[in-house]
Amino acid sequence: MSKVEFNKETGPREVFCGLTSIVWLHRRMPDAFFLVVGSRTCAHLIQSAAGVMIFAEPRFGTAILEEKDLAGLADAHEELDRVVNDLIARRPEIKTLFLVGSCPSEVIKLDLATVAEKLNKRFLGQVRFVNYSGSGIETTFTQGEDGALKALIPLMESSNEDPPRQSTELPKIGKNTKVLLTQPYLSDTVRDLKHRGCEIISAPFPLGIEGSTEWFLAAAKAFKINELKVHEIISPLINRAKLALESHKEILKGKRLFLLPESQLEISLARFLHNECEMDLIEVGTPYLNKDLMKEEINLLPDNTKIVEGQHVEKQLDRVRESNPDLVVCGMGLANPLEAEGISTKWSIEMVFSPIHGIDQAADLAGLFSKPLRRNQILTTKTLVTH
Ligand code: SF4
Repeated sequence: MSKVEFNKETGPREVFCGLTSIVWLHRRMPDAFFLVVGSRTCAHLIQSAAGVMIFAEPRFGTAILEEKDLAGLADAHEELDRVVNDLIARRPEIKTLFLVGSCPSEVIKLDLATVAEKLNKRFLGQVRFVNYSGSGIETTFTQGEDGALKALIPLMESSNEDPPRQSTELPKIGKNTKVLLTQPYLSDTVRDLKHRGCEIISAPFPLGIEGSTEWFLAAAKAFKINELKVHEIISPLINRAKLALESHKEILKGKRLFLLPESQLEISLARFLHNECEMDLIEVGTPYLNKDLMKEEINLLPDNTKIVEGQHVEKQLDRVRESNPDLVVCGMGLANPLEAEGISTKWSIEMVFSPIHGIDQAADLAGLFSKPLRRNQILTTKTLVTH
């Protein structure tokens, strides 16, 4: 195991809340609807984050519950009932309806699990209701996805057979189910799958050539597929990816990187950007650290990598300024102020919208980081020429 330095920090945070995950989740689940139970702020957040989706018939909406409209808890239940009834009458294609909790005090008072249970009885055989929290007090944006997936586990039947995979249906799960994760932020989902007897295959995450190769090999081992066969199939992809990475490496090599905590992808990104793009790591922030889930990744990090779990945003920004990095990976709220101070940034939320997994995507992933540096180089050159 590499000698990594672990630190914890608490204090003010600057991250997107779990509601944000609806923006990508609704595209992946065509028969689902995400009903945010929240305030006008919540409605505004997902509508602006989802941009043009407002003009299409979207698969998300907000039941707005606000103190001024409501006399008490009974009214809140009534209002939610009214919104759900309207929605189901208007949209008969909805098969799964997620009730997504948020942080306004009116919503915290509601027991959405009980609401979902009652609605399940009323709409039995027509729509399934599940609930999870996207509240900014409890979750960062990728944890929203974790909550949504975890909410689906009780709907999966038990089976001890090797269940065949049907991507359009929820699989049956049990002690012969093997789970290989593609995203590192699904701690709660993994915990519940383990409780149901599933075996979690330990592997780095499929980002970059190294992570993806190890990920395929771990899958092959679990399913007793010959390792040589895997190498034979992926070696042309690896050669192609190495060539494609070269031009990005020219820009990234030796550049100093600071990752602020937001997406929980930070450790995997740090591993890729150091091992394959030769960047130097100043600090790797992560909102939460599940050492068990991340152990294969941590093993691949260089010695003396500084990992900081949690956030005290002001102290962290002081460290950013002191260390004068070439690039900072951070949330959108911090990017503009840092850019204004002359520090190049990359929005961490872009990693969940962009196709970055797999060997063939390694150069595209590196490109997300080389682009802001390349742009700065061009700007600097132009300024020098002008003067
Ligand atoms: Fe804001 Fe909380 Fe609503 Fe997220 S859940 S938009 S943090 S009020």
